[in-house]
Amino acid sequence: MHAEVDITSDNRLFGTNGIRGVVNQTLTPDVALKIAESIGTFFDEGEIIIGYDSRTSNTMLVKIISSGLAATGCNIHVGGLAPTPCIQHTARNRRLDGGVMITASHNPPQFNGIKVLGSDGVEISRQEEAEIEETFCTSKLNHVDWQKIGKKDMLSDAHEEYKKAIKRHIDCEIVERKRFRVVVDPVNGVGGLITPNLLKELGCQVTTINADIDGRFPSRPPEPRPENLQELSTIVKARQADLGVAFDGDADRAIFVDEKGEVQWGDRTFALIEEFLLETEQVKKIVTPISSSQIITDVAEKHGAEVILTKVGSTAVSHTMKKTKAKLGGEENGGVFYGPHQPVRDGAMTTALLLNVMARTQKKLSDVIKALPQYFLEKDTIKCPTELKSLILKKLTDEVRNENLTFDTIDGVKIRYPNASSILIRPSGTEPLYRFYAEAKTKDRASKLVRDYRRKLSKLMHA
Ligand code: MG
Repeated sequence: MHAEVDITSDNRLFGTNGIRGVVNQTLTPDVALKIAESIGTFFDEGEIIIGYDSRTSNTMLVKIISSGLAATGCNIHVGGLAPTPCIQHTARNRRLDGGVMITASHNPPQFNGIKVLGSDGVEISRQEEAEIEETFCTSKLNHVDWQKIGKKDMLSDAHEEYKKAIKRHIDCEIVERKRFRVVVDPVNGVGGLITPNLLKELGCQVTTINADIDGRFPSRPPEPRPENLQELSTIVKARQADLGVAFDGDADRAIFVDEKGEVQWGDRTFALIEEFLLETEQVKKIVTPISSSQIITDVAEKHGAEVILTKVGSTAVSHTMKKTKAKLGGEENGGVFYGPHQPVRDGAMTTALLLNVMARTQKKLSDVIKALPQYFLEKDTIKCPTELKSLILKKLTDEVRNENLTFDTIDGVKIRYPNASSILIRPSGTEPLYRFYAEAKTKDRASKLVRDYRRKLSKLMHA
């Protein structure tokens, strides 16, 4: 592939979640235009929604990408500044042929990116991505006759329709009765555009922090990791709120803070939603990546439901849900996919579902979480040159096989030990490193697994 499009380290346009790059370094105006023309060629003069997050570079990229789509004969319907799940919902609701969401999700402000959506709002499959990559590389662009250049219109009411769609899946009455106090931290992004109003309509007393739209993300990094959510914790405690919610940059992921100000990682809140839906909606299948906690399996087994494991990445979860007709999916990073609404991760839907859980159980969030099985998670990384990644994975898998350990290779290698401890070792899709996710019933055991496998990997790399 041409050197200038080296947007991901493995020389593909698309990474784990769409196309990402540093604006004006890898994601330059000319690269963005050609990507848009390739996407437009793929959609074959279709009807396309375009949405974007709060990043400063969108003043430039929205125009460039719209031009590329119009040049290839696509009609553009502007969904505007909105959360990714709102644009996804609108693509399907308005029966469009597809969509383009301009966002780099949780990445720092110098990044931007492109998520390509199918007619059902789900990000396109790997095979379809390959088609766009092929068009990009061969430059076989569908530059249409001047009379066929795409038209543009503005979509109104998309926010309202999306909000209404979420409320249809919630027992609004029992939530309204509770008059929950909720603090929302949308990290100066699009998450502040809809959820605060949705929550007010659900009877909540809402406080927002970091709600001004500002694409530099001055308040905190856009990834809702515990170390970035101290302000939210403090305000939840000060306001004596029942719940705090933090979004990532495009509001498809939601991480929650309980009434004590404790950040609860996505596995736990997903397990609560899972348990609630297993009890109330006879959900039979749960789709989750191999990196998820054992809690998800424990809860499913208790209710006789099946867990379907996928590769890491939201697109794998969405497509597996579609294929298996599963109603629910979830990721450890705060992504919850509620199929009856849409099989994509959706921060506002997740927040509404969690409030429904809290209203139904009549308990504080920290208490319902305490009742879940307790596991300790340790994460770490080790540097590994991209060109060595697959060789190291093969060596590691051979070693694990020779030791007669229980393992699977859905994504990287996950080794399971007795007493529900496990470690997943997988090469990063975007960076020159390996990631470790160890889980066990004690912190010591999880840390030891990480230490042991760090040593093993380092030895394999230097052998
Ligand atoms: Mg995101």
